Amino acid sequence: MSRTIALVTGASRGIGQTIAMQLAKAGYFVVGTATSEAGVARIERYLKDSGGIGRILDVRSASDIDELFTQIESIYGHVEVLVNNAGITQDSLLMRMSEDAFSEVVDVNLKAVFHTSKRSLKGMMKARHGRIINITSVVAQMGNAGQANYAASKAGVEGFTRSLAREVGSRQITVNCVAPGIIESDMTSELDERYKQAMLDAVPVARLGQPEDVAATVLFLASNQASYITGAVIPVNGGMYL
Ligand code: NAP
Repeated sequence: MSRTIALVTGASRGIGQTIAMQLAKAGYFVVGTATSEAGVARIERYLKDSGGIGRILDVRSASDIDELFTQIESIYGHVEVLVNNAGITQDSLLMRMSEDAFSEVVDVNLKAVFHTSKRSLKGMMKARHGRIINITSVVAQMGNAGQANYAASKAGVEGFTRSLAREVGSRQITVNCVAPGIIESDMTSELDERYKQAMLDAVPVARLGQPEDVAATVLFLASNQASYITGAVIPVNGGMYL
């Protein structure tokens, strides 16, 4: 039997890398993306044993997204699990936030999800099966000073998810979000220690999250056991926002 194809954007490091590794371990054929050749080489190294592959992708380019899907389809088959993980922050208080900082974050975190999801539906509709899993953030619901652009992009993805879930549910395609709290990765290593401690004080389980915590939820949503869950936002935040 052929393996289910899973595409994970932003798989070169952090949460995306762990998601890609865990999906590969669970038997999926994983295509992981990075924005650089060095990132692709890294993905190919950790996916080597499972036979998965790395590919270059800047999620801001609709034509590159189309090209990647076409390439995967012509060689391997349709993508049945899409994990929209690639994301960026460009934090500052709104008074100081440039229009570019707002647009760039929205383009990578939200607009790209429109392009990848739309393109993935071609194959999923045919297969009458699919999983779209979007990595959002606790910030989408609780807000965070200095992250108006990021929160808007992630809240946008959550609204997008609910609407698309209603459109494609009858084809057995589910669309869900996983909303992490503070997870140890490059993204959070840049945060000021005092700020990180203050955030940590608000986490009932009293530890930072690990990429594995997020990956486990993604794996569940990708599985057949989760076929009756759609349009949901699953928090993985240690109780940080209740
Ligand atoms: P990270 O370590 O900074 O990694 C970001 C990933 O996104 C990298 O693989 C990066 O690729 C990729 N990426 C960035 N810009 C891209 C673009 N234009 N096109 C394609 N790929 C791009 O981030 P992370 O902490 O693992 O976060 C992963 C996801 O979880 C993000 O959506 C983030 O918003 C979300 N999240 C994270 C936390 C947290 O605490 N860490 C909390 C809530 C939500 P390159 O390596 O090639 O640059």
